[in-house]
Amino acid sequence: MKDIYAELGVAKDASQADIKKAYRRKARELHPDTGGGDEEAFKRLGAAYEVLSDPQKRALYDQGIDPRSQGGAGHASGFGFEDIFESFFGGAQRSGPVSRRQRGSDTLVHLDITLAEATFGAPREVTIDRADTCDTCEGSCCSPGTEPRTCDNCGGAGVIQRVARSLLGQVMSTTPCPSCSGFGTIIESPCSECAGQGRTRARHSLDVDVPAGVETGTRIRLPGSGDAGTGGGPRGDLYVEVRQKAHESFERRGDDIHCTVQIPMTAAALGTVVTIDTLDGEREVDVRPGTQSGQTVKLKNLGVGHLQRSGRGDLYVHMDVETPTSLTEEQEDMIRALAGARGEDLREARLAPVNAGLLARLKDAFVGR
Ligand SMILES: [Zn+2]
Ligand SMILES: [Zn+2]
Repeated sequence: MKDIYAELGVAKDASQADIKKAYRRKARELHPDTGGGDEEAFKRLGAAYEVLSDPQKRALYDQGIDPRSQGGAGHASGFGFEDIFESFFGGAQRSGPVSRRQRGSDTLVHLDITLAEATFGAPREVTIDRADTCDTCEGSCCSPGTEPRTCDNCGGAGVIQRVARSLLGQVMSTTPCPSCSGFGTIIESPCSECAGQGRTRARHSLDVDVPAGVETGTRIRLPGSGDAGTGGGPRGDLYVEVRQKAHESFERRGDDIHCTVQIPMTAAALGTVVTIDTLDGEREVDVRPGTQSGQTVKLKNLGVGHLQRSGRGDLYVHMDVETPTSLTEEQEDMIRALAGARGEDLREARLAPVNAGLLARLKDAFVGR
């Protein structure tokens, strides 16, 4: 919204009385009867006054929030600016009765999936309670063989005219007819099956294709599978919100999967090939001689399938080198002998550079995608 204080020609700290006075003066200038008749300017003035005359809306505006975007900005009762505007310029008249036939609401259901299902995609079934068009009345809301009759109060228009006083004198306004709630017709014998609602609720199982790459929070849209509308109106959409359960061994980061294998110190030193059970079945992992704890081996294309594009993430296997424990005396002697042969002092330790030690490897593993 523009500067609505300038629109009314008042200061930002103007009192309610000043605002009202300024509005009356300007409205008279712009009023069609006094030769003004500038529709656009009058409309802007009215919009500005509507906000500034309401302390709540004014406070929102002062915080930089458009009060008209807040729910229920229109006047629930009494005269809104639009009513006044319409009475002067014959703007958009509320046309005719409201239709009973409305689109149904969108519905949301949650679905728990496994990491494997997220990786490859999977056909699943969801169970939902949703509104269906009533079979008995086929959405007409009337008991079979009967029809709605025209409302006497409004003659079928759905609205009634009323006259009221406003700041600018008498104005005409239309409001929804209270007898028929604006529908223009009255249902005298409502369908007993749906209590005149035109729809009933029932439990359904629906097939849903979970595509590869979905993650917790992803919503799959099934158009036209939500609630049936009122009065036989079309269905809304169904949204299936995915929740991916945690896996015991595999951790998902984006479309990559990470896991840890524990290998004995001797195997890490000598090198070996280990077999791990991936989501794609068994795969061999090459453990290079001299492997350090925290090093990773990347198995390409064994990660989660990308959503809505081809290809997959990768599987990162983190090496966790196990230092042997519970050594027998004989084994201790062998390791001492090994240390001696390698010229390693058992009290020897070096500080590793920050960019080369375990910390650096852990950091790479987390950043690696
Ligand atoms: Zn019915
Ligand atoms: Zn009516």
